[in-house]
Amino acid sequence: MAANRDFYAVLGVTENATEEDIKKAYRTLAMKYHPDRNAEAGAAEKFKEVNEAYQTLSDPKKRQEYDMLRKYGAFAGAGGPGGGGFDFSQYGRPGGGQTFRFDVGDLGDLGGLGGLFDQMFRGGEAGGRRPGPAAGRDIEMTVEVPFSTAAKGGTAKINLGRDEPCMTCAGTGAAPGTQPKTCPQCGGRGTVTVGMGQFGVTRACPSCAGKGTVVEKPCPDCKGAGTRRARRPLRVRIPAGINDGGVIRVKGEGNVGAGGLPGDLYVTVRLKPDARYRRDGLDTYGKLELNLAEALLGAKKAVETVQGKFAVKVPPGIETGKKIRVKGKGIRDERTGRVGDHYAEVKVKMPKKMSREQRKLFERYAEVMGWT
Ligand SMILES: [Zn+2]
Ligand SMILES: [Zn+2]
Repeated sequence: MAANRDFYAVLGVTENATEEDIKKAYRTLAMKYHPDRNAEAGAAEKFKEVNEAYQTLSDPKKRQEYDMLRKYGAFAGAGGPGGGGFDFSQYGRPGGGQTFRFDVGDLGDLGGLGGLFDQMFRGGEAGGRRPGPAAGRDIEMTVEVPFSTAAKGGTAKINLGRDEPCMTCAGTGAAPGTQPKTCPQCGGRGTVTVGMGQFGVTRACPSCAGKGTVVEKPCPDCKGAGTRRARRPLRVRIPAGINDGGVIRVKGEGNVGAGGLPGDLYVTVRLKPDARYRRDGLDTYGKLELNLAEALLGAKKAVETVQGKFAVKVPPGIETGKKIRVKGKGIRDERTGRVGDHYAEVKVKMPKKMSREQRKLFERYAEVMGWT
């Protein structure tokens, strides 16, 4: 789902809204969608959108620039008039919706839109083609889950520590009542060009780290970082069939960067061993103990599998080490729909102590077999 780029719609205000209206709408929505309060799917995404919208609309200069772009039809889905040095080229992305690429040519009298463009359009782009506010770093964690949870699917609780937007400054890093200023070194573009002509190299602006803005009076709560360390429990869904070392990607649960964009969370699954089962891919292996009579005469036995207990027929004369296959009763991989088999490995238990009577019967058996 592409992020909503109509910032007025995101905040639910009209384009004539006052600064106070915008602030009020932001506070209400930020409270509603803050990851600490709202665990619903999509809430983090919504929170990010609200922050992005507020960062632009709360800054009179940025708002003015944004309004101008909006008038150009940049957010209507159509290309809009491509004049004024803007090249509106539309292209598709694998796995995503349509997105726009804005090549900012001659900025002319609009001035300093590079940074704003980056902030507005980087969100939908995979990887990001140009320097801009960096998405937060990904987080990697390991979680140990019971064998049966991985086999049947379930959830695992993790204690997630990550950088989140600072509520005091709405992630801007600027003290309340102040706003980040357009970076004087790059003019808000976020990039600087070193060298001349064809030897020029464009890289992220060192003064603003590619953000296009600098903070003069830092927010006292986050010291200007725009983010704060937060720790909270998170339930991660464990898909049925995942194996030891499997990695689950949780989108948007990584650190939130200064630009308000979160990285992803990667959780590596470690299986806790289960004494009853051994696993090979989607197949499971377990033991089946038989007494001497069952092994000799054959029997009907209940076999425990990850899918429950199932009756199997043991043929007469079975030996220790033989495997009885229970078809389709291994692990079902919910992502591929494939399902493994269960193998019950036979172990014949020998009587350790025998009474006089039992001993006599076996001596008689040996006689009949011609073993004496
Ligand atoms: Zn700069
Ligand atoms: Zn702050």
